[in-house]
Order: sequence, then C-alpha cells, then structure tokens
Amino acid sequence: MIEIFKRFTFEAAHQLSDYPEIHGHSYSVEVRCQGPVRDGYVIREDVMCAAVDNVRQQLDHRMLNPIIETPTSENIAVWIWEQLVDHMPLSEVRVWRESVGFGAIYRGPAEDRKTA
Ligand SMILES: [Zn+2]
Repeated sequence: MIEIFKRFTFEAAHQLSDYPEIHGHSYSVEVRCQGPVRDGYVIREDVMCAAVDNVRQQLDHRMLNPIIETPTSENIAVWIWEQLVDHMPLSEVRVWRESVGFGAIYRGPAEDRKTA
C-alpha cells in the first residue's frame, strides 16, 4: 500500500457564532489516497487532480456558509471528503490555516475505519 497526496489552497469567507463578523481565511488542504499500486499509480494524477480542482473551484473566493453548514475547519474537511469519496480511494483530508497553524484531519466515518 502506498499513500499519495495532493495539496491545494483556497481563499474563502465565513461567519461563525463565536466570530460573528464575516471574515476571510487562506486555507490549505491536503487530500490523501491509499491503495495498491496498479500500472504505477494508486490513482492516476490527472483523475485525482480533476476531481480535487472541481472541489477547489466550488470553495475558492466564496462565502462558505451557504455551501457548508457551520464552516469550521472540521466541517470543511468532512465536506471535502464527501465530495471526493466516490471518485478516489480516500484515506485522509486535512484542512488548515497556515497563518495560525490550526487545522483538522478527517479520516472518514468511524465504521469505515474499522474495516480499513
Ligand atoms: Zn474564521
């Protein structure tokens, strides 16, 4: 088994109950896939990048609240997972804000992890 990753960044605004003013962040994301290598790949790079870029375009320069309920790093990571899980052998989604060194890591629902 090999784990591969693709990183990207996006800029977005949100509003949270503990920070009621609308404000923006630069987010970094790392999407990881794990699986056996077939024909040299866990997943073809162009296939992974196309799916990931589609997610990035849905978030970049957007207000997150209409897209993701309570858009904390935790919920953004879960949302990204849900967009991608049908397209690739996902193992992990990380979302973080480089500026504050804070982020979240999601490895899927607990029932999936038991069989992994
Ligand atoms: Zn914020």
